[in-house]
Amino acid sequence: MTEGGSQAAARALDARDPLAAFRAAFVVDDPDLLYLDGNSLGRMPRAAAARVRTTLEEEWGRRLIRGWGEGWFTLGRRLGGKIARCIGAQPDEVIVCDSTTVDLFKLVVAALRARPGRRTIVTDALNFPSDHYVLQGVIELLGQGHRLVVVPAVDGVTVPESQLTAVVDDGTALVTLSHAAFRSAFVHDLARVTALAHQAGAIVLWDLSHSVGAMPIDLGTAGADLAVGCTYKYLCGGPGAPAFLYVRRDLQERLVNPIWGWFGRRDQFNFDGDWAPGPGIQRFLVGTPPVLSTAAVEAGVDLVLEAGLDGIRAKSVAQTEYLIGLWEAWLAPLGFSLNSPRDAPHRGSHVSLGHPDGLRIDRALIEDMRVLPDFRYPDNIRFGLVPLYTTFTEIHEAMLRLRRVVVDRLHEKYPRERLAIT
Ligand SMILES: *Cc1c(COP(=O)(O)O)cnc(C)c1O
Repeated sequence: MTEGGSQAAARALDARDPLAAFRAAFVVDDPDLLYLDGNSLGRMPRAAAARVRTTLEEEWGRRLIRGWGEGWFTLGRRLGGKIARCIGAQPDEVIVCDSTTVDLFKLVVAALRARPGRRTIVTDALNFPSDHYVLQGVIELLGQGHRLVVVPAVDGVTVPESQLTAVVDDGTALVTLSHAAFRSAFVHDLARVTALAHQAGAIVLWDLSHSVGAMPIDLGTAGADLAVGCTYKYLCGGPGAPAFLYVRRDLQERLVNPIWGWFGRRDQFNFDGDWAPGPGIQRFLVGTPPVLSTAAVEAGVDLVLEAGLDGIRAKSVAQTEYLIGLWEAWLAPLGFSLNSPRDAPHRGSHVSLGHPDGLRIDRALIEDMRVLPDFRYPDNIRFGLVPLYTTFTEIHEAMLRLRRVVVDRLHEKYPRERLAIT
């Protein structure tokens, strides 16, 4: 590649990066390790370690059970209020609890029950496997003859809006999609898809796991009904960090959480009598929250809010464009395909490159080249770019190393078999 592909050019982009200082807020103790899997697990904010230590030593160690009254009880709601600012919601519309999969289950069941008589659930082929499984399981559980319509993807990368319009009708109870697709990074137009579902009278449930913290999201202006999302990807909340759920305020009193636990009950500590839903968003809670992992979530959210999502998105687009430029110059001639959308407005913050030998190339990157991307079947090597800490120099170096793997055939010594965890 010409000048644009030089290391000097990458350094110049880093030197002009208005978010460059945020990298120092994260633990980066091995600069030669190129970490490009932040869309699966974000790096650890330094402040997260301090916060968890305080929760352990001061709160649990010294305050014991009193900790519940001194912040643990309201932690999920307080963090929900901060995440609300990342997704264009009101503070009382978001709460941190359970896992994304469990939150999705709760809201899918609640939504279907709110649309009796309608029998269709619409999703797309790009949605996350766990989301598909939850939908299949709920259909089986409810036993009311719901039908799942899976809109296919073009080339495994894109889902045209016209395909959704074609299947959403007055029999559709629920439209549920990943805002940004985990494999290709395709991004739906959240406002337009919400509008088309509402025109048909359907409820919309967005999975924001792969977009929250990476781009501005405005559920409020779109009038979106429901959403769930991860906190351990671009929000850097830590392994197994709890998820968040969003329920538009006017829907909260009309929907029922299908898991009746004491944290979602009215008058939780009045142990007499039967379950009745608690007020507002609280009714979507289930049981005792994981306080230690919830405490780890706040530092990353604070960094995202401080950096601002417009700036994060601008850098994310510049970085994915930059990576795609290097792919075109260096990797396309070696047989790599671009398995992410070319147009930036429909692309999230990772780039998937396909290669028939992708699995073994991924292995060689990890074991020989000190690059950590991840791999998604059938042939996608995903490079997650997190504007708070990923540098242009890292992207440049990772693409150089990727090219070296293939040119020097370093991958050929590895077996073609799948590994259990990718
Ligand atoms: C990562 C991800 C999840 C993960 O769900 P868990 O319950 O945390 O395992 C769900 N949905 C999407 C779209 C994701 O990207």
